[in-house]
Amino acid sequence: MAASAPGSKVLLVEDEPALVESVAYSLTREGFAVITATDGERALERFRAERPSLVILDLMLPKLSGLDVCRAIRSESQVPIVILTAKDSEADKVAGLELGADDYVTKPFSIRELVSRVRANLRRAQTQPAGAGPGRLSGGPVEIDLERHEAFVRGQSVAFTPKEFDLLDSFLSAKGRLLTREFLINEVWGADYYGDTKTLDVHVKRLRQKIEENPHQPQHILTVRGLGYKFID
Ligand code: CA
Repeated sequence: MAASAPGSKVLLVEDEPALVESVAYSLTREGFAVITATDGERALERFRAERPSLVILDLMLPKLSGLDVCRAIRSESQVPIVILTAKDSEADKVAGLELGADDYVTKPFSIRELVSRVRANLRRAQTQPAGAGPGRLSGGPVEIDLERHEAFVRGQSVAFTPKEFDLLDSFLSAKGRLLTREFLINEVWGADYYGDTKTLDVHVKRLRQKIEENPHQPQHILTVRGLGYKFID
């Protein structure tokens, strides 16, 4: 048994009993602790009570749809979410990713494929703060100290406004992941923000000016067309 993340807790949200059984069995054998929920409401309850390291989320669920569950989890956590979609529902897949899911697996899938996706997403989530001590985050040319509210670009201290700093924090906390516009606005300006969404673009532009060697050809803060942004090292 070669679990890359021994003891990692996975929440499996799926309403089809046979699938729950086979996926839970395989993940358990791989060393994961598996908790399950068979409807959307229960999924949120278990998520809040158990704080899993990753969520596998079927989109077609009773009570509360998988998309609603995805949105709710993403508004309170950066936990990796892998959605399960039906073969013919491209729209659901896109909607899930827009709501902040990290990855998707199309039904019918092989258990082996699902397990490898779970591992890959956990690995990505767990290596995010690499190279940084407690209270520090780094990525590309940037390092920030969350306690002192200090930021360094290529080793030089650089001043960021509080919102720019929060945005940078969001990016560095989720390196390599698509962050939707909705998610970033929620993170930095709060769920009750009803201002112009151009505000986000303006802040991204300012971050690029401070971070990128050539702000017109960004190498770190990338635009994901129609969806949002992504920070890469
Ligand atoms: Ca289902």
